[in-house]
Amino acid sequence: MGSTIFSKIIRKEIPADLVHEDDQCIAFRDINPQAPTHILIIPRKEIRNVAEMEDEDAPLLGHLLRVARDVAKDQGLADGGYRLVVNNGAAAGQTVWHLHVHLLGGRALSWPPG
Ligand code: AMP
Repeated sequence: MGSTIFSKIIRKEIPADLVHEDDQCIAFRDINPQAPTHILIIPRKEIRNVAEMEDEDAPLLGHLLRVARDVAKDQGLADGGYRLVVNNGAAAGQTVWHLHVHLLGGRALSWPPG
């Protein structure tokens, strides 16, 4: 049994605004959006972050990017552009210890990030 809030969302114990679901991952709207479109793509498998992924997880992480591409297109972001972010560790701002890809779009995004 997973211990993070994302595991509870995967198990449908708490609600989320789902935009995609398949056998390997789900995608849902971030509860505290940092852009007009802010969606999280997360694996069903409990992986704390990129640093703790196993080599065998590489196809799964590739799948997350493929889903991010398709969700971005569905959300109308493909032409204007969007940003994918994976925070790894506390210093990078990771607060939920279940690997997730942030999909951000719908406004101009500055660089470098904070
Ligand atoms: P990070 O800081 O990279 O770990 O990102 C965690 C993200 O999860 C933050 O953007 C939060 O707003 C988001 N978040 C936390 N709880 C929920 C929830 N119950 N539903 C949707 N998004 C959430």
